Amino acid sequence: MPTLSNPSEIARETLRLLASRRMPPSPENYRAIYHEIAGTTDKTAQVFPENELRALLVSLPKETSIQLGLSRQLEQALKGKSWEDYRKSLVEFIKEHSEESELGWSELIGEFLRQWEAKHTSLTPARKRESLEHVLAGGIKNSELLFARLQSLIKSWSLNSESPDDIALTNGDIDAIPPVTSSTFPTATIAAPAPSRASELLSELRELFAYTLEVAVATQLSEDPDLAASARALANAVRTANTPKALEGLLTDIKRFAFRLELLAEDRAELRSGLLHLLQLLIENVSELVVDDHWLNGQITVLRDIVSQPLSIRAIDDAEHRLKDVIFKQSQLKHSLNEAKEALKHMLAGFVDHLAEFADSTSDYHDKIEICAEKISKADDITQLEDVLAEVMRETRVIQINAQRSRDDLRASKLRVEEADKRINELQGELDKTSNLVRHDQLTGTLNRRGLEEAFEKEAARALRRQASLCVALLDIDNFKKLNDSLGHDAGDAALIHLTAVIKETMRPQDTIARFGGEEFIVLMPDTPIGDSKKALVRLQRELTKRFFLHNNEKQLITFSAGVTQYLAEETQATVIKRADEGMYEAKQSGKNRVVVK
Ligand code: GH3
Ligand code: MG
Ligand code: MG
Repeated sequence: MPTLSNPSEIARETLRLLASRRMPPSPENYRAIYHEIAGTTDKTAQVFPENELRALLVSLPKETSIQLGLSRQLEQALKGKSWEDYRKSLVEFIKEHSEESELGWSELIGEFLRQWEAKHTSLTPARKRESLEHVLAGGIKNSELLFARLQSLIKSWSLNSESPDDIALTNGDIDAIPPVTSSTFPTATIAAPAPSRASELLSELRELFAYTLEVAVATQLSEDPDLAASARALANAVRTANTPKALEGLLTDIKRFAFRLELLAEDRAELRSGLLHLLQLLIENVSELVVDDHWLNGQITVLRDIVSQPLSIRAIDDAEHRLKDVIFKQSQLKHSLNEAKEALKHMLAGFVDHLAEFADSTSDYHDKIEICAEKISKADDITQLEDVLAEVMRETRVIQINAQRSRDDLRASKLRVEEADKRINELQGELDKTSNLVRHDQLTGTLNRRGLEEAFEKEAARALRRQASLCVALLDIDNFKKLNDSLGHDAGDAALIHLTAVIKETMRPQDTIARFGGEEFIVLMPDTPIGDSKKALVRLQRELTKRFFLHNNEKQLITFSAGVTQYLAEETQATVIKRADEGMYEAKQSGKNRVVVK
């Protein structure tokens, strides 16, 4: 081809060649053919594409520290105008992105579940939920951004964690998910597990979610059958939704369901607080009306305590027992009161009858005596007088006998009334005690043996139902006899009161404390693994070394030895306490002030 020099000719020839070679008429192709025809080189083709690469760099995501690091590498390559370095970093960036979005999710979800279940010092479940909702708000479409945000959320939770010992996983299914060690988390990225594990975990999560909806949520909604049916339908949808479209629809349904659930929870909370308010009002007013009624006042105090604190099933149980005791005693008392009233009525009726009889017979006697007096005044001889005197004697004897019988009857009635009165006083005394003492120890206010029996039955049943661990401890004060002997029995009593106060304040509110015998106490610890139970008792021992018992302003150290054991399904209270007692004995043998696990 002859070399052309006229630019317009070169341009015409370029267009011709583009068409004959069937090349798209792009600026690049045009430029290349132009230079080919003109026999020149394309200088612009050699220029490092800085502007385009910078524009690309600006638009790359920089959410994670890895992304940030790679962006920096790209910037360096750009500065050094190294197309090769830039290309390498970019490839790495893409690789990192695809690995993270494909593989990191499973670890993220695993860690998310762990942190969701974990106890946090300053984070309530409600607050966690709120922060999660905040992250999810606005429906983030960019999965990488969502990943990064979730990751930093989990990181902030994990920084709030209590020590690992305190983190409790309650659900067996969740337990099965292997925990991510704190050395791998919370770092900026999560190590990538195999993809199959990810899908395994996701399907487990899906099943768990469906189960939660179907069992845990739906069963709570018995008062709202519509919502319960929605929960079951959602559970089915969670199991079957496999396409993105189905999943999108599911998300919308779940949001709607959550909103309805929230409304229901608000309604229930309102209802509960309304009922509580009503109960409070009733209690206040009843106590105004029954100021003189000691036993009823005792019950009202119990109820007032309950409604003034956060509601607890244990406090309600306790109050129910106390009320039942009083109701039983009251029915007994009513019966005795009726008996006493009957006896009193009977006595009064008898008294009136006797009085009437007595009046009749005395007026009769008077009449007869008057006649006799007349006969005496008219009597002419001694024999007539004798007859009249005999008549007087006879009449007097009759009246004497009548008077004696009346007196005996009245005495018997009086005795019956006194007996009834005594019984009433006894019952009244018992009733006064009933408010507080039927299930409680008088000295320390903790449960007594009877109270312990009931509490143990309840806790054991609860532990079985929930498959939770219940621990039982037996505490025996060390060298208590010595304390009694040296400081006196009253000081011993005060020491028992001091110990129970420290136990109550140190153990959790849901733990039960009972006086088992003289200076022996039982502590029931629901939902507590055996290791934690021992720790709790050791903490109590430490607390006692800080909070001395003061006698005449002198510090006295109280220590105890304890045996602690875990309740085994279906065993009796006696068996489990016997095991705790063996532990306590071992603690005594090995030097006292110890806790032995049995
Ligand atoms: P150890 O360390 O082996 O348990 O010795 P100890 O002295 O504590 O045990 P021991 O069983 O020999 O004595 C318990 C004492 O507790 C005997 C009894 O006088 C006293 N005690 C029991 N109940 C009461 C109570 O209600 N008040 C007072 N003040 N003392 C009590
Ligand atoms: Mg003892
Ligand atoms: Mg003792």
